[in-house]
Amino acid sequence: MKKRNIAILGATGSIGTQALDVVRAFPDFLEVSVLTASSNADLLIAQALEFKPAMVVIVHESGFRKVQDALKPAGIKVFAGEEALQEVVQLPRIDIVLNAIVGAAGLKPTVAAIQQRKDIALANKETLVVAGELIMDLVKKHDVSMLPVDSEHAAIFQCLMGEEQNPVEKIYLTASGGPFRGKDRAFLSTVTKSQALKHPNWVMGAKITIDSASLMNKGLEVIEAKWLFDLAAEQIDVIVHPQSIIHSIVQFLDGSMKAQMGLPDMKLPIQHALTYPLRKANDFERFNFLDYPSLTFEQADSQTFRNLNLAYRALQEGGDRPCVLNAANEVAVAAFLADRISFLEMSELIEATLRQQNWIQKPSLSELLAIDQQARLVAQNLIG
Ligand code: NAD
Ligand code: MG
Repeated sequence: MKKRNIAILGATGSIGTQALDVVRAFPDFLEVSVLTASSNADLLIAQALEFKPAMVVIVHESGFRKVQDALKPAGIKVFAGEEALQEVVQLPRIDIVLNAIVGAAGLKPTVAAIQQRKDIALANKETLVVAGELIMDLVKKHDVSMLPVDSEHAAIFQCLMGEEQNPVEKIYLTASGGPFRGKDRAFLSTVTKSQALKHPNWVMGAKITIDSASLMNKGLEVIEAKWLFDLAAEQIDVIVHPQSIIHSIVQFLDGSMKAQMGLPDMKLPIQHALTYPLRKANDFERFNFLDYPSLTFEQADSQTFRNLNLAYRALQEGGDRPCVLNAANEVAVAAFLADRISFLEMSELIEATLRQQNWIQKPSLSELLAIDQQARLVAQNLIG
């Protein structure tokens, strides 16, 4: 069988390193041609020496010399800078680009890859939050596959297989509830970043871990689902399921529901996206019902965790609102991680940024990139 050639953007992160675990499990089927990282030169070098890609990118120039010295003898081309991300995805032999960059920084490389007719395995949900409509138009225009890696969306995608003729009534995105499930605002007013960084079910990068604690992650996922599956906001519901075994659910017009389940292990949705439409045998741990005698469900507490409603509102208002929401959230999370604002102030900052930013109904890609930058400045000024 022809090998599949992949580019992994954000190779040194949580998704990136797990994607390389998946590649290790299928050496006869998956092959890596591009690896990129923001600044972790040592890990990028080790990955490149193991997987022998044709090219690597280290975004921060400060790491360039070190990576170059280490990889040049192995015949691996090394580039630095943000622009290089858009160039390396164009390498002709690449079949799939796995975008595992965190934040809106993932948008331009996604666009470049689609324009070169590469299939996309998308972990970078911010791509669709910022520019979902434009991206899905490009996916259609260039006739590429957009394969979700986010576990909830991978679940919905799998539930929809074979249902092409059947409209969806609604979907339920499951949420773990994060480390602060059941807590009230008095409790949240004093939580620290080390408490917020302890997720009960998943080990992930810092930004998505904070987003999970604040429910912004689920808000971003509602917007992501809207564009991936062409749904109205009213068709997307969130249900808290603390065990994270059911990864999401589709309900059809006859009331029948399909759910996709499995252990909370991101290697499963990563493998699904990289081997789609095949399901390849692996030796990852299997689910045991007796370890999970009860799977439980509860309503999301959107009074306490205001981000979920902020995201629904941004989606309903449309235009540039989700882009502003995302930019303000990225600034808010960075400020919380730097001990500059409190946990609850994150929602306040996002709401205040949305209030101060002008509204654009049908922004182009270049307008969205400018709005993203402006919203970051507004949010930073609000922090002071
Ligand atoms: P992470 O912080 O662990 O890794 C991010 C990767 O992107 C790193 O390799 C880093 O070097 C690179 N990067 C960071 N900033 C960059 C920039 N400005 N330009 C280019 N590269 C940059 O993050 P993660 O947890 O792996 O998450 C990656 C994406 O996947 C996010 O969009 C997240 O929401 C999504 N996601 C993650 C998980 C998970 O389990 N970690 C699950 C679902 C979705
Ligand atoms: Mg998810």
